[in-house]
Amino acid sequence: MVIVLRPDATPEQRRSVEARLRELGFQIVVAPGPPPVVMAAVGEGTMPPLEQIRAMPGVEQAQRIPEPFKLASRSFRKETSIVRLGDVEIGGKDVVLMAGPCTIESEEQMVRTAAAVRAAGARVMRGGAFKPRTSPYSFQGLGEEGLKLMRRVADAHKLLVISEIMDKSQIGLMDRYVDIFQVGARNMQNYPLLRELGKVERPVLVKRGLAATVDEWLMSAEYVISGGNDRVLVCERGIRAYETYTRNTLDLNAVAVAKSISHLPVIVDPSHAAGVRDKVVPLARAAIATGADGLLVEVHYDPERAICDGQQSLYPEEFAALAKQIRLIAEAVGRSL
Ligand code: PEP
Ligand code: MN
Repeated sequence: MVIVLRPDATPEQRRSVEARLRELGFQIVVAPGPPPVVMAAVGEGTMPPLEQIRAMPGVEQAQRIPEPFKLASRSFRKETSIVRLGDVEIGGKDVVLMAGPCTIESEEQMVRTAAAVRAAGARVMRGGAFKPRTSPYSFQGLGEEGLKLMRRVADAHKLLVISEIMDKSQIGLMDRYVDIFQVGARNMQNYPLLRELGKVERPVLVKRGLAATVDEWLMSAEYVISGGNDRVLVCERGIRAYETYTRNTLDLNAVAVAKSISHLPVIVDPSHAAGVRDKVVPLARAAIATGADGLLVEVHYDPERAICDGQQSLYPEEFAALAKQIRLIAEAVGRSL
């Protein structure tokens, strides 16, 4: 249930409303932002007749939240939430470009990529240090050494850092190097990890699982928010369908749906959706036209020699050309870059 207080509600009236909700067995989460106070009553409480709550002094409105993802829903927060990191705002008017290699390999790779993606307009650098590889025999990432390297290079180019976390035991270590925790598609239902990420200060990007419905995806985001961290981004990265020309199928329906039923910023990863370089650019363009708040794109200066996902990594020049097109498309849909 979402409760909106009257702009002139007194602290005393607010306390009585909260006391009544607790008595019914609910937990209370107050939406950040300017007055009026908007609060959600979530949990295993007993739903009272709404008129009872509406009749309480100081209450302007009380409504059921029909969605199972209460705190991630637009029924709870009408405006798209903005995740702020320094001077970067994700979910605001600007669309945000996040770019970099699939996996952190070397100093040369990171320096050349950082300079190129920053010059093209990216604000966030991506790169995996802990890689969820399909084969246990494939390269598993450089771990802390890689994170250190990315942090140093990103700082030198005034870029933020996003990297994938695979297990809750990595939180303490990664917290020292990253600005955004990425939860990969394979870990979208790692509930102990999501719960722990509810306790961190930093934003969390939750990728959609390969076969997850939009509700399941947003419920994973709900795990993080209900744990106390409302700085959550969700990322569509392609789902598994029956097509074989591409690695996955980019579900732009899900982007449009998530934008309408949730206030969370939606990011699109066209690289893992396409799996092949020449399809990444058109999918990225379509994502922004659909209303995505940002892109997560794999870029490598020498993709032929990339350890991982070279076939879907853009050359820096291609990324720069894409960024120019994104600027135009963003403008056409009331956004900017
Ligand atoms: C990645 O971004 O490098 C990655 C492994 O993506 P996903 O979890 O979407 O497969
Ligand atoms: Mn990859």
